[in-house]
Amino acid sequence: MTQVPESLTGIALLHNPRYNKSTAFTEEERDCYHLHGLLPASISTQGRQIERILENIRRKAYDIERYVFLSALQSRNERLFYRLLIDHVEEMLPLVYTPTVGQACQEFAHIFRETRGFYVTLQDKGRIYDILGNWPEADVRLIVITDGERILGLGDLGANGMGIPIGKLSLYSAFAGIPPEQCLPVMLDVGTNNETLRNDPLYLGLRRPRLGGADYLALVDEFVDAVQRRYPKALIQFEDFLTPNAYGLLNRYRKRVRCFNDDIQGTAAVALAGILAACRRVEKNFQDLTVLFLGAGSAATGMADLLQVAFMRCGLSEQAARQRLWFVDIDGLLVASRTDLAPHNRPFAHDAEPASFLEAINRLRPDVLIGASGAPNTFTEPVIRAMAAHQDLPIIFALSNPTSRAECTAESAYQWSDGRALFASGSPFAPVSMDGQTFYPGQGNNAYIFPGIGLGALVAAAETLSDDLFLTAAQALADSVSDQQLARGSVYPPLAELREVSVRIAIRVAERVYRERQLPIPDTLPEVIREAMFDPSY
Ligand code: NAD
Repeated sequence: MTQVPESLTGIALLHNPRYNKSTAFTEEERDCYHLHGLLPASISTQGRQIERILENIRRKAYDIERYVFLSALQSRNERLFYRLLIDHVEEMLPLVYTPTVGQACQEFAHIFRETRGFYVTLQDKGRIYDILGNWPEADVRLIVITDGERILGLGDLGANGMGIPIGKLSLYSAFAGIPPEQCLPVMLDVGTNNETLRNDPLYLGLRRPRLGGADYLALVDEFVDAVQRRYPKALIQFEDFLTPNAYGLLNRYRKRVRCFNDDIQGTAAVALAGILAACRRVEKNFQDLTVLFLGAGSAATGMADLLQVAFMRCGLSEQAARQRLWFVDIDGLLVASRTDLAPHNRPFAHDAEPASFLEAINRLRPDVLIGASGAPNTFTEPVIRAMAAHQDLPIIFALSNPTSRAECTAESAYQWSDGRALFASGSPFAPVSMDGQTFYPGQGNNAYIFPGIGLGALVAAAETLSDDLFLTAAQALADSVSDQQLARGSVYPPLAELREVSVRIAIRVAERVYRERQLPIPDTLPEVIREAMFDPSY
């Protein structure tokens, strides 16, 4: 039983989300905490409370209403919220996270009820360390921060982007068991270039164009420095920054701060895991694959960077590894002769003739096609048919989020490949039945990776997060996919296994950290990890 602080009794206890059990307080607890009269007579179990919550959620007409309802539950009874999330992950994840969180961010200022998380604005320059002292917790271990400039595939949502750190940290507590009080969602509000938002009377962020350049970097530097002084054990996860900033900040801090960028590194590990699992099904060696990306932003480039490391770990030279990785962006195939490429694109711009997307598929005959363009319906029928013409079992991942941005639907992928595609998407798609067969599309959801990475890195006190930690996590995730799951078309394990998968990843990541630090791996590591996890049962 969670120890309720002595001073917390009566209505104050019922209003405290960490300790509140509402109708599940026992007779003895009602005596002890002065709760008689404040609760109806019948004493519920947590399971009975979940039944009631589910009934309420399912009765609602729209997912956004379900999101609001779940946020209210989180603010009222934390343990019930997390128990629900863990026990009903397939139903709850799309509500608490993508795709519904996308709409929640778009409407953040309109559905806002009470504040959650921490806001750092450019007006806080020079006092970030001090104002962090206003946060009520002294032992923060995990920080997810966004500046809201590229929320999912939805663009600049300014301070509305706070929904993302809140959602991600909920997943950390549910699936990696990081206690909620150790989690800090942060919105770095530097303005927004989204004029619609700035003109919305209910908008809650700074109404000014975004800060950029050296002043922006100085503010992030100050924040990172303040965190390291206030919370020296904390891991910082950067989330949904615009690509140049995402890379700029990652490269600025990765060698000296315990941090990572989930859009670049987390996504990369999820994609790599899906490819590694798919290799078993298509019976090909990973190092023989050719991969074509649609989209050349932070997500796709992050995947290519990690795939390159993975190819090199299989013995390929850097040059040979890059030759297996090709990109098409909005202007066609990335080739060396193009003059419009960003620095992160250069290493993958090969000496080749320019080509359209379809021409590139027919020329390269890729084994794997990955969409991370944010451009919906770009995997057209001719595209999928071309993939299927060149490969017996084409590996096709449409990873753009939310669902409305997916490069194609699961149904299209199966239909146009005559049921041969090994398909995965970023946001969930329902199983598809075709010609008497049912396909279960995998969901390349970062939620498979970041909780385990974070937990493993924290347990082993990683000083920084190397590429090899992400390779390790990807392999651990791929190993969690059973042959039966692969045979049904899934390159990821069921979401229902998320907590167990996260633990397995955390163990392997922590082991890797110990090896990197040349420290002995504790014999009891799995038990230590499992026992340290927050358990939301009463
Ligand atoms: P970004 O804006 O940095 O990059 C987008 C890229 O797509 C650019 O290179 C652009 O040229 C290209 N592009 C845009 N429209 C195109 C078109 N019609 N045809 C070809 N290329 C086109 O964005 P990002 O951060 O790389 O994210 C891209 C998408 O990936 C988003 O939708 C995001 O939700 C998704 N994503 C998914 C996951 C996941 O599923 N695990 C994780 C992170 C990001």
